[in-house]
Amino acid sequence: MPVNVLFSARPGLWPEYEPLLHQGLTDAGLDFHLATDIPADQVDYVVYAPNSGLQDFTSYTRLKAVLSLWAGVESISGNETLTVPLARMVDGGLTQGMTEWVVGHVLRYHLGMDRHITQQDGDWTPDAPPLASQRTVCVLGLGALGEASARALTALNFHVIGWSRTAKDIPGVTCLHGPEGLRAALSQTEIVVLLLPDTPATTNILNAHTLALLPKGAQIINPGRGPLIDDDALLQALNSGQVGHATLDVFRTEPLPPEHSYWAHPNVTVTPHIASETRPVTSAQVICENIRRGEAGEPFLHLVDRGLGY
Ligand code: NDP
Repeated sequence: MPVNVLFSARPGLWPEYEPLLHQGLTDAGLDFHLATDIPADQVDYVVYAPNSGLQDFTSYTRLKAVLSLWAGVESISGNETLTVPLARMVDGGLTQGMTEWVVGHVLRYHLGMDRHITQQDGDWTPDAPPLASQRTVCVLGLGALGEASARALTALNFHVIGWSRTAKDIPGVTCLHGPEGLRAALSQTEIVVLLLPDTPATTNILNAHTLALLPKGAQIINPGRGPLIDDDALLQALNSGQVGHATLDVFRTEPLPPEHSYWAHPNVTVTPHIASETRPVTSAQVICENIRRGEAGEPFLHLVDRGLGY
């Protein structure tokens, strides 16, 4: 009997993924049927994006695993109709894209690029930026994306502090964890990068209390998820100068509503959830490897801990 693989994602993705998945499953030596429409009780694996509309897995009685195309799984990890393993996306292309985006925005803050680009009024103030080695950057979240970003910033000589739930050891990165670690990290950092997942434990992790720990004028870069930041607290901190500037890629409501204060705030840069995306060529390989593993009885890669939500 063939392995039935349902592709349940935005329809526009299918033409790009179909040949890649077809090739990967063939290379894995599997007898398979790959389609965007398969009767629920015959599906073995779902290649899944939350915006596909599939939310109720009750009738997927033969399902072996759901393989997410997205790294962030907050909208599915709590789904009680899903009782089989859920794997999230860890994709080399996604990681590379995020690393480039983070490094670009850190350098933009570090070098004061916005200030110099808009300096058209004859001002000639020779205030060269410090070296990266004199700048502390904190990366909250040291998973696939946070660790790669922290390593890239370290390679540029930034003093990098990383913070995670469990203890880490990453060469060149000062790794902290737990509530005390967060206090220590924030109190000495000029640029904060948020690469945490959206879980009950990380909601509003940047709030009035934690924002007040930062040195005055610190800058925030959020490519993680919108709920990581208490928006009212951030706006207050921006208005008081406690936070100098924020670059926000993700929001509680997306697209960011036109009336939202972030759009008009002079010290906020809004980007439309483009920090990075899953790349079909590399992510299809990850999906096919997981299906191969499932069929061989081997453990899946990148399993979500449903209790922790990531
Ligand atoms: P991972 O699951 O690999 O890493 C998550 C990290 O966060 C881990 O280091 C984990 O700690 C840490 N963490 C989780 N909970 C806590 C907590 N309560 N306290 C402290 N640390 C915690 O995720 P990725 O790196 O792959 O992705 C991170 C997020 O980036 C995604 O969840 C998604 O929301 C976002 N994203 C955004 C994109 C964009 O375009 N804007 C694109 C892709 C992803 P530990 O290592 O100890 O478990």
